[in-house]
Amino acid sequence: MAPCIGITCLISEQELNNPPLVGARRAYIDSVVKAGGVPLLIPPLRENTSLDQLLTRLDGLLIPGGADVEPEHYGEDAHPTSGPFSKERDSAEIRLIHGAIQGGLPILAICRGIQVLNVALGGSLIQDIPSCVPGSLNHPQKNNPSARTSIAHEISIEDGSILHKMLGVDRIGVNSLHHQSIKRLASSLKATARSSDGIVEAVEGMGGEFLVGVQCHPESLWQATEPRWLRLFEEFISRCNQKAATLRH
Ligand code: MN
Repeated sequence: MAPCIGITCLISEQELNNPPLVGARRAYIDSVVKAGGVPLLIPPLRENTSLDQLLTRLDGLLIPGGADVEPEHYGEDAHPTSGPFSKERDSAEIRLIHGAIQGGLPILAICRGIQVLNVALGGSLIQDIPSCVPGSLNHPQKNNPSARTSIAHEISIEDGSILHKMLGVDRIGVNSLHHQSIKRLASSLKATARSSDGIVEAVEGMGGEFLVGVQCHPESLWQATEPRWLRLFEEFISRCNQKAATLRH
């Protein structure tokens, strides 16, 4: 039986005469399916008991990209460039992250995902790299229409990390569509990749569990530019499979 992978959803603004839409970008869904998982879209539910019940049905949790995390979660006022925010999504994802870690579920966190993971575990964020980090690389790639499928910069990967074992290289190219990044790293996470300007581009848990966050968008890269990034999804699904097998026995 293929492992069931929860993918947390974004929520759109309410439009005239229409309630908000809830959904996930296709590339995340395709990546889970390609790697052998069954995707289950998780809406940003307000009811914690529903979120907790959903978690019991999952073999892994994927936290995808999206808007900025509200800075009140790490005790800061919002930078002028920060936002818009989604209170519902922030609180649902923070709840799910804690529950997944408690239940030993593998977690893959992408872009906003690595940021919300760090915040959920007690870390903080650089709210705007271009204005807060002088001399930084062009991480937002704001005016690049093909930013999702282009290599923006390289990352250097820590020896011995899951990422390093999986990719088998010290350096690899990434796309970059983020204006925020990790500032104070949560005490239960370690940085496993950085760009040349020191920005944290990947994190992992301390204990060998599959708790992996990346700042780039591998779901868009493997299909277009850098096929090696599919390995991240394959390794994630393989670990979810192992988890599912222990639950069934
Ligand atoms: Mn970057």
